[in-house]
Amino acid sequence: MDIKKISYNSLYIHVPFCAKLCDYCAFFVIAKPNRTIRQNYLNRLKREIQDKTTLFEPLDNIYLGGGTPTHFSLKELQKLLRILTSNLPISTDCEFTIEGNPTCFTKDKIKLLLDNGVNRFSIGVQSFSDETRRTIGRAGEVSRIFNVVDALQSYSIKNYNLDLIFGVPNQSIDQLRLDLDELVKLSPSHISAYSLMIKEKTPLAKRLKNGINDDFFIKMWTLIEEKLNNECGMYRYEISNFSKPGYECRHNYNIWKGGQFLGVGPSACYFDGISRWTNPANFNKWIDGIDAIEDYLDLPDRAIEILLTGLRTSKGWEHSEFKLKTGFDYNKLRYKQINHCVSKGLIHKEENRIKLTKRGMLLSDYVERELI
Ligand code: SF4
Repeated sequence: MDIKKISYNSLYIHVPFCAKLCDYCAFFVIAKPNRTIRQNYLNRLKREIQDKTTLFEPLDNIYLGGGTPTHFSLKELQKLLRILTSNLPISTDCEFTIEGNPTCFTKDKIKLLLDNGVNRFSIGVQSFSDETRRTIGRAGEVSRIFNVVDALQSYSIKNYNLDLIFGVPNQSIDQLRLDLDELVKLSPSHISAYSLMIKEKTPLAKRLKNGINDDFFIKMWTLIEEKLNNECGMYRYEISNFSKPGYECRHNYNIWKGGQFLGVGPSACYFDGISRWTNPANFNKWIDGIDAIEDYLDLPDRAIEILLTGLRTSKGWEHSEFKLKTGFDYNKLRYKQINHCVSKGLIHKEENRIKLTKRGMLLSDYVERELI
């Protein structure tokens, strides 16, 4: 399929810069980029967006992620926002998210972002415990987290996500409880709670070989859900994501549900409904305009992939919704495998819907292996 024949209303922008690399990070990121690198990025990004201008329909959501988009200076951030606002059709109720690190999320940057249509803020908290932060090699002072949330609240911003990492080796259940207590006090509308993944070739993998055991993981997972349900009024709408009703992340939800989206920036992915494309995860190649690489799957295999990502959401799949999205009937595609998961108590099957049970959410890796 020719990517140029499709129009997109969902955009991801990858900003590959951070002040310091975290030991667990497996994203494409450049630490401490100098001014020339930052300028080259902005110039190339402008060209990439302008080359794709005809592909956009009014944008329903924009996700400025990374990396750390707030690593830019105020002036550079202004330039970045101007590139976006002057080249993209942004709908009036567009969900416009920016990710940022507390160390560089300043009050003047927040004001600038607000003035340019950003309306959702995602802050990388990870943990309030110095010990946990040291274990995963996460830089930055905890006090900065409180300053950023104060700044957001001073502008009456309600729509902000806080990221949490749990399942860190040597982290106790009490330490996790303290992290959750602090998160609850900061009144976010959304929390992403990720269990630590020790990915190959990261500095963390050289120091730590094993994560936590399954029983302890279940204990932590259960505590997170209970506390966020009872004390924050949040519900788990995806395996790792909780929100107050109405604050679910539109951008990510579209991706889990197999929606099309466009990505710009080095290593950014985009999906045209059939193929996934990935820009070079290499700064110079991206600057030189080297083409994205296509990851093509046969239609049934792509439909299975979409089946799995959609099952990550608490609503799962409604039968006709899946058919409309992929052209396939999930019962014909994976009848035996779905029923096997039903018999194991991992999938709940109604006449017109399938979704993971609570146990299925906990054992989603197993479900994934079964359905593939
Ligand atoms: S802040 Fe995020 S993107 Fe940057 S190094 Fe840490 S984990 Fe990676």
